[in-house]
Amino acid sequence: MSIDNFPCCDYNIYMDNKKIDLHTHTIYSDGSMSPAELIAKAKKDAVDTLSITDHDTVEAYKNLPTQLSSCKILIVPGIEFSCVEDDVAIHLLGYGIDVKDGGVNQIAQHIRDIQLTKATVFKNILYDYKLASVADVIDDKITKNFGLRNYSFYNALKDSGVDPATSLKIKQKYKNCIAFLDSIETYTDEVISVIKSAGGLSILAHPGEYNLNNIKTFELLDKLVKKDLNGVEIFHSANSSELQVMLDAFCKDNHLLVTGGSDYHSGETTLGALDNPVINTKISKEILDKSEYEL
Ligand SMILES: [Zn+2]
Ligand SMILES: [Zn+2]
Repeated sequence: MSIDNFPCCDYNIYMDNKKIDLHTHTIYSDGSMSPAELIAKAKKDAVDTLSITDHDTVEAYKNLPTQLSSCKILIVPGIEFSCVEDDVAIHLLGYGIDVKDGGVNQIAQHIRDIQLTKATVFKNILYDYKLASVADVIDDKITKNFGLRNYSFYNALKDSGVDPATSLKIKQKYKNCIAFLDSIETYTDEVISVIKSAGGLSILAHPGEYNLNNIKTFELLDKLVKKDLNGVEIFHSANSSELQVMLDAFCKDNHLLVTGGSDYHSGETTLGALDNPVINTKISKEILDKSEYEL
């Protein structure tokens, strides 16, 4: 089904002619633009409402430009937290949070510290195996991303052309090593509750990106709803049209909010939730009402 034929919504209809993008990244995580550059691009792309949702940091909000050209843009404060639910590494978006909130800043720092520790341990293993070039790739990611987020170390080995036998040997030998343990990660309960305490709404980012089949995806959602999740990012390029329709029904049944965004990191792509005005009308007004800055 084409997105234009998406079954029409009971969502709070925002203004039809608005252009919204609730998922973008800057240099404070793995994006290529500074907040000022990203906002300038958003203005150029005629976006009315924007959220910067860097991975595990709100640094961009401490570095927002103060002077901008005449046309206005509304900014919804946001973040994209890395956490774990039942061994699945997922991302939770937090919108409308107080970016100065102690809990948000503390947990964001904690998540980055864990990733940095894991990456450092992993790099030392690589040096032991004389895999310095893979270690350099990891180093590069640490520098750019404040750690590795959910980047799998095994994928790092595979992507760097390490032969499967060596990868397997490393995997077996170090399976209980901190670099490979999910048990030290931050869990969804904690992240959802921190977002809530900071006045925000928690949204499951891009459900289609976790390599889960539909049954597992909705099991994951059921668990998160029980933990007080507020909504789902339906409109994201990682979600197939089929999944979007299923998510739409799920959100209606469970009275969940709906969001969308480009997940812009770099390059020439236009900002604005998948650049589709139909999608913009379906994004829940409760999220847009969380905008705090007008630049
Ligand atoms: Zn993500
Ligand atoms: Zn993202």
